[in-house]
Amino acid sequence: MLHVFALSIILLGTILLLFSLGPVNHIYKTDNNAGWRVLRALVLFFIAGYLGVSYYFFLQSSLNAADVMVSTIMFAGACFVALVVRFSLSSLNKLEQSAAAERSNALHDSLTGLPNRKFLMDCLQEHIDARRYFNLLILDLNRFKQINDALGHYVGDLLLIRVGQKLKQALPSDIQLFRLGGDEFAIVSTKDESAHTRHIVDIIHHSLETTFEIEDYELSVSASIGVTHFPENGQSIGVLLQQGDLAMYASKKHSNLYTEYDESLESGAAEKVHIAAQLKEAISLEKFELWYQPIIDLSTNSIHGAEALLRWPQADGSYIAPDKFIKVAEQSALINRITEWVMQRVSEDIESFSGSGLELCIHINLSVKDLQDPMIVSKVRKVLTKHAMKDHKLMLEVTESAMMTDIAQVKNTMQQISEAGLVFSIDDFGTGYSSLALLRDLPVGQIKIDRSFIRNIANSNADLAIVKSTIYLAQNLGCNIVAEGVEDAETANLLTDLGCDFVQGYYYSKPQRRDDFVYFVQQYDQQSAVLLVK
Ligand code: C2E
Ligand code: CA
Ligand code: CA
Repeated sequence: MLHVFALSIILLGTILLLFSLGPVNHIYKTDNNAGWRVLRALVLFFIAGYLGVSYYFFLQSSLNAADVMVSTIMFAGACFVALVVRFSLSSLNKLEQSAAAERSNALHDSLTGLPNRKFLMDCLQEHIDARRYFNLLILDLNRFKQINDALGHYVGDLLLIRVGQKLKQALPSDIQLFRLGGDEFAIVSTKDESAHTRHIVDIIHHSLETTFEIEDYELSVSASIGVTHFPENGQSIGVLLQQGDLAMYASKKHSNLYTEYDESLESGAAEKVHIAAQLKEAISLEKFELWYQPIIDLSTNSIHGAEALLRWPQADGSYIAPDKFIKVAEQSALINRITEWVMQRVSEDIESFSGSGLELCIHINLSVKDLQDPMIVSKVRKVLTKHAMKDHKLMLEVTESAMMTDIAQVKNTMQQISEAGLVFSIDDFGTGYSSLALLRDLPVGQIKIDRSFIRNIANSNADLAIVKSTIYLAQNLGCNIVAEGVEDAETANLLTDLGCDFVQGYYYSKPQRRDDFVYFVQQYDQQSAVLLVK
């Protein structure tokens, strides 16, 4: 009986040792530490020893208590080795998993799970080192900030996740997608074919054509894409990323499907210097024109007034757009002289409109530099007294971002101007930030909702929600509201239903020369009179 017991536990121990050999080998391969090699040799040595002792016991006719004791100790030793090896293997596996997770976290974006900027850098460096051709596309979502601000970061985050998933699914597996941060993504492909970029761009736009249902919102997004190539355009990661960004901004600015980087994008700076030189002369010689874009009162369907918009005619009959030269003028004191000229000209025009029987409220655009001009209050007072103008005939448009530049000083200036009797309108409302604080703290009588929100209200629930809540907010704060960029009847009708006070946009009229504008107003009033009689 003792014989059978001793032999069985020694053989059991041998089996345990044999089973420990697998894990020991595995650990040795992963850890590559010489200690595990010694352990493997020891286990093999034990197995041989255990087999030897078993054979010896087998040959004995009887075993004593000491033999049984030895076999029990040998069994316990084998159990010990088996347990230690198993535990070591499992802790090593856990360590390996967490190291892999850490490696992956460092290279992946925690929100979308996509490879991140660091991963992109590594990947680009690898291609550059191998002198391998690649296309780099920088993709930025349009108006994501507005969705984020209006519907909250939670919805914004969910939208980013869904957009990331959608793009990932749509792109072929050999094209890599990265999230750079915010609403910016990058795409890398190594195919050197001229039609290939266009193919990727089409895939991206096509995949974003859907509406994303998030919480209770149906959100639509679009993207601006900039493209550059290695090695033609740039040789280093920094340069290529900058080129992609530049091209992406150009694409955003011109609402293109995508923009290929080329050197002319860099020449914007040279163009600015040229414009600045010409501007000085244009101001001295009063070469500007003021055009007027009608603002319609929706409650009466009559023309309430107009926004005065600068035009800079050139010798060849073309015009330099205000977007281009106002920014340059703002970089110097030139903008103050331009604004003075505009105020002067508008006052004269208002008198001339009155002479034609038209009592109109004219809007002037003020720049951030005007609000910082120490003379602005006296300039405004001078214009008002010189032309004995009724206050309600002049309205000053200031953008949110201009108001935010030096809030204490701007507030003071705005208050003085408002005490002089003028009303301020917040221009491009919704595109800046801290809109609510501005409305509370500053003397503002009107909100102009930016046209980027108006454009899609007939098709986008999110835009409609933004416009609706802005109208509600304005009404409760005692401000009236203008919708800019109304381009069709459907939008105009929708805005009327929403209780918007005024509208402006190409549907009614583009900005026109003064005389054309006067003719337009006279015609328009007659037409609405006819419509009313009908
Ligand atoms: P803004 O103040 O937002 O002016 C409205 C711009 O939207 C005008 O462009 C107008 O032509 C355009 N617009 C009006 N309705 C529609 C529409 O239905 N659809 C589309 N797509 N666009 C529409 P514009 O005249 O090129 O002026 C651009 C910007 O230049 C103005 O934007 C304003 O910020 C600035 N600006 C113009 N005149 C002056 C000025 O006298 N002083 C200052 N400081 N800035 C000015
Ligand atoms: Ca404006
Ligand atoms: Ca505007």
